[in-house]
Amino acid sequence: MVHVQFKICNEVAIKIIARKALPRFPNFKSSVFFIIHFEAMNERHTEFMKLALDEAVKAGRKEEVPVGAVLVSETGEILSSAHNQTIDRCDPTAHAEILALREGAGKISNYRLLNTTLYVTVEPCPMCMGAIIHARVSRVVFGIHDAKWGAAGSLYNFSDNERLNHRPEIIHGVCHEECRALIQDFFYTRRNAARKNR
Ligand SMILES: [Zn+2]
Repeated sequence: MVHVQFKICNEVAIKIIARKALPRFPNFKSSVFFIIHFEAMNERHTEFMKLALDEAVKAGRKEEVPVGAVLVSETGEILSSAHNQTIDRCDPTAHAEILALREGAGKISNYRLLNTTLYVTVEPCPMCMGAIIHARVSRVVFGIHDAKWGAAGSLYNFSDNERLNHRPEIIHGVCHEECRALIQDFFYTRRNAARKNR
């Protein structure tokens, strides 16, 4: 099978990309397999991202920045799920990704999280990308970029640095609209509340 890595912009985009790619493959059977494979993969990404979104909602209810994460094994088993709890725990490192990695590592009793995928609603920050690389997570799937803190392509790109000894695959744009709306609504509400209190 031809290995192709896509940056998924949204669920519709991958179908269009796959259809455009079809004529390039002379073997029709492998082309059909290619499309089915990517559509199935995309559905799985959406399914797990929705669970990460559920976690993000929990964070928002506690007035934490609404970010959620889910760690999944190569067989599709959910190893952990977590949301931001920095305020609640008085812990600046209690980002959703860190908590999910910690719980997942505890579950499999291994500090290396080989062949796992981390789903997170917002692009990981430098701290979380550092932990992801230390843990050897194979793939990171996130919903929206973070221009201020993102370390998987926005502010920095730790996922594609030859000086680092591990480079996770990055897929972004899964459930983009839902992830964006959650963050935008949270900060909009917070700004309005701050204005009223002046
Ligand atoms: Zn982080």
